[in-house]
Amino acid sequence: MPNTAASPDQGKEKGVTLFGMDPLIILDHYEMDYHHSYAQDSPFFVGLSKGNLLGSRCTACRYFYATPRSHCMQCGSPTRWEPLPPTGQIHTFTVCYYGGERFLGETPFTLILVEFQEVDTLFLSRLKGLAPHHVSIGLPVQPRFAKEPTFKVTDVWFEPV
Ligand SMILES: [Zn+2]
Repeated sequence: MPNTAASPDQGKEKGVTLFGMDPLIILDHYEMDYHHSYAQDSPFFVGLSKGNLLGSRCTACRYFYATPRSHCMQCGSPTRWEPLPPTGQIHTFTVCYYGGERFLGETPFTLILVEFQEVDTLFLSRLKGLAPHHVSIGLPVQPRFAKEPTFKVTDVWFEPV
């Protein structure tokens, strides 16, 4: 928060945003690049870039997770990748009127938990292509994928079937 010694706008005409003189506090810019490894989750994100939505199935008890998971939470065994069904349905949803910087321009938007037949957990995603007041529980949905992948979870979203 700006300190009372100076307003945040003081000094701005000289290219500095000043928050205080004692102690001296200015607005500065901080930015860095770093190598982000997806490690064991890599196949999930590579899959999105190819239009494939992969879940994780336990190799021992067969529990099927709709999300990347290297080991089973039920029995501790390793999982293997398996495609999720091509369609699911809305298990529940919420309409967001505020969001992170990346999504502020798109508010209000709808977040959904997608339920797939014979999959034991839900998948959190965004719903596009339907106004929030038309969204309903049980609505059939299908994944859509970014044409230019960024290798982030936002490379996938859902639309009504
Ligand atoms: Zn298991």
